[in-house]
Amino acid sequence: MTLLSTNFNVPFDKHKAEELVKSGLSILGVSIDGIDSETYRSYRVNGSFEKVLFNISLVQAAKKKLSSASPRVVWSFLAFKHNQHLIGKAKQMAKQLDMEFQVTRGISHNKQWLTDDIHIHPVDDVAIRGPVCRQLYTMAVVNADLGVSPCCFHDAYDSNHDFGDVNKNEFKSVWNAGKYRNARKLFKNHKNGRNKSNHKIVCENCVVYLKHMENINGAE
Ligand code: SF4
Repeated sequence: MTLLSTNFNVPFDKHKAEELVKSGLSILGVSIDGIDSETYRSYRVNGSFEKVLFNISLVQAAKKKLSSASPRVVWSFLAFKHNQHLIGKAKQMAKQLDMEFQVTRGISHNKQWLTDDIHIHPVDDVAIRGPVCRQLYTMAVVNADLGVSPCCFHDAYDSNHDFGDVNKNEFKSVWNAGKYRNARKLFKNHKNGRNKSNHKIVCENCVVYLKHMENINGAE
């Protein structure tokens, strides 16, 4: 299964939509955290709500034209204090647009943004569950500058922490080498301590890794 997660605030057209459908992508997750231009821009500053909806309509039209059930198109709503009251309406809109709907608790360094609704699934819990960080095996973030981040948590987006650059190397070689390998080793070699390479890895300061170490140490 392949999943692409995007804000979809990108130049897009009919041809690209058809290529996307033909690529065999399983799921297209589109991050939309508002229900109109104004509410959308509270978080996606300077983003265009209309452009995102237009791009989605191109994908839906291409699926129809090519008689394809994939990709499943998912409205991915990050819930914060300022937008949690919009979840119901967003869900309705997703249905009208023939999209699936998923809501996750958003994370931010600024605590004022955070929702205290305990019914909304926290994104960190998803990653913490299990003996390793699933992000390191199941996903990668390719940023606008073509730098590769292991995930979108914490400081991972900072280009100083990039795991590679797909401008210079094929994605496959980034995925199978260097920082990716060292990051995965962090979870495997817990008894031998930390990353021994000279390159600092963002995962070492991540709550997912720290929580994992806490569990290991607690169990020993
Ligand atoms: S920064 Fe944290 S969540 Fe991201 S890949 Fe590393 S350990 Fe996983």
